[in-house]
Amino acid sequence: MAWEVYLKKGLCLPQIGWWMDAQFSAQRSVVTHAHSDHVGRHKELICSAPTAQLMRERLRGKRIEHVLPYGKAEAITEDTSITLHPAGHILGSSLVELNNENGTLLYTGDFKLRRGWAAEPCATPQADLLIMETTFGLPCYDFPDEEKVRAEIVAFCRESLAEGRNPVLFCYSLGKTQEVLAALAPEGLPVMLHPAAMRLTKIYEKFGVKFPTYREFKKGESDGHIIICPPPHQKNGILKHIPARRTAIVSGWALDSGAIYRFKCDAAFPLSDHADYPDLIKFVDQVKPKRVLTLHGYANEFARTLRERGYEAFAIGKENQLDLDLGALTSH
Ligand SMILES: [Zn+2]
Repeated sequence: MAWEVYLKKGLCLPQIGWWMDAQFSAQRSVVTHAHSDHVGRHKELICSAPTAQLMRERLRGKRIEHVLPYGKAEAITEDTSITLHPAGHILGSSLVELNNENGTLLYTGDFKLRRGWAAEPCATPQADLLIMETTFGLPCYDFPDEEKVRAEIVAFCRESLAEGRNPVLFCYSLGKTQEVLAALAPEGLPVMLHPAAMRLTKIYEKFGVKFPTYREFKKGESDGHIIICPPPHQKNGILKHIPARRTAIVSGWALDSGAIYRFKCDAAFPLSDHADYPDLIKFVDQVKPKRVLTLHGYANEFARTLRERGYEAFAIGKENQLDLDLGALTSH
């Protein structure tokens, strides 16, 4: 027997009747984390406790939630068990391990191998079949030391404040905002958050994550504060109230040469909640899979890298530019 998987607005596992990260209203889906491109209005779902709460904040409505603690195997069908492991991407993010007579399948969702400031440390359970995200699957995405990036962000903020301008850090409201807020903790600088990020940050605190003092953005009261808000392409509506400002994007994409133009900002800091290229390889080496399927970002390129390193690896749902019959992408 072999695992059958296919990719279509999420990852479908027809043999067990469950989706992973379905992006539509599925009957049954595992939700690895609460980012909007990994959730849907499912009838029944499996996720971690923080993911359930973060999802409730972002997506109202009724559903059957099976909340699983990390590291505890539960039956998902008569002959298949599921175990969630921390993925290190945002609070509550999970790697999904499935076990049955086909062997062990590990699906990563989004993950980050380096220890973040506000997420659980990533696990590396071993598996026969690894299905992994490869957002930053090119060698140019080799992120610098995070403590160094943190120091650069702090220097940017201090310089802006000294000039009488507000440092505005563009961070996605779930995950990056809390990472940056926690990273600023030792500095004792006053911080204001966008209202959407504020609500999500409160949920982090419920789960024991510690932050420095912060408050919600209030127009007319922002002088002398660092402002953390979503990037300008996500209508955040508060920039017009901050006329004297210096802006910076905080993202892995900051390594791209055109980042400050793409994000319309003055500076760019490469701090990501995904694994970079060296960590993608390190993760595969630690999981020791017999076969790897890649998805998201540079899936084709990274699958090729893995093949060059001796792994059997293919991109899901893409031309692999190989003279091989990939069949239905089943795996042993
Ligand atoms: Zn994500």
